[in-house]
Amino acid sequence: MATAPVADQRRLLDVQDADLRAQQLRHKRDTLPQLAQLEELAARLADLHEERIARTAEVGDLKRAVTKAEDDVQSVRAREERDQQRLNSGAGSAKDLQALQGELEVLAKRRSDLEDVELEAMERLEAAEATLASATEQTEALETQVAEVTADRDAAVREIDEQLVAIHDERGTAARDLDAALLALYDKLREQHGGVGAASLVGGACQGCHMTLNAGDLAAILNAPADQIVRCEECGRILVRGA
Ligand SMILES: [Zn+2]
Repeated sequence: MATAPVADQRRLLDVQDADLRAQQLRHKRDTLPQLAQLEELAARLADLHEERIARTAEVGDLKRAVTKAEDDVQSVRAREERDQQRLNSGAGSAKDLQALQGELEVLAKRRSDLEDVELEAMERLEAAEATLASATEQTEALETQVAEVTADRDAAVREIDEQLVAIHDERGTAARDLDAALLALYDKLREQHGGVGAASLVGGACQGCHMTLNAGDLAAILNAPADQIVRCEECGRILVRGA
């Protein structure tokens, strides 16, 4: 039968308490709400990045389309002016002048069509530029949010790390010169049982698994020598009596 001084068995519960609090704090640090928020913000920023790339390309295409439409209108207008000057000069036969008049009508219609094209391209450019500006604005707002949440996360991590240092010291004090075999058994059980390797026996129930021991097991445990290391019949954890 393995034994350990009663005082060491009691002190093991302090070690257990420190280990459990450290485990909870590490879990808290790994699951900080800011981590999920940052992940969500990063996904939204990635979407916006794609959006901005697409809109930037669209704006470039539309700017070229507007320029081309302007050039088309301009060249028709230049031709109209040339024809108009010839018409005004009155040079040429009546038939020539009539032909010029006819061409001017065709050119006016053509310019009107091209101006419609130009206007439409300008409207589409304006809409694309507005969408791009909005995506840029949203990106800036999200980046500000990322900076804020990151600062929050860092502060939370710092606070937890400080607590962990304090708990580590506490654990060190509680475990100092503790019976080595008892501590080794505890560490092994803690590993196997989700962080709880030792529990107190309260009112006939193991505080590790919260099962009430049957009368026979309980009597055997209570009657065992105080320095004997006893284990819960249900979960196998070290049971500390009279704690
Ligand atoms: Zn148990």
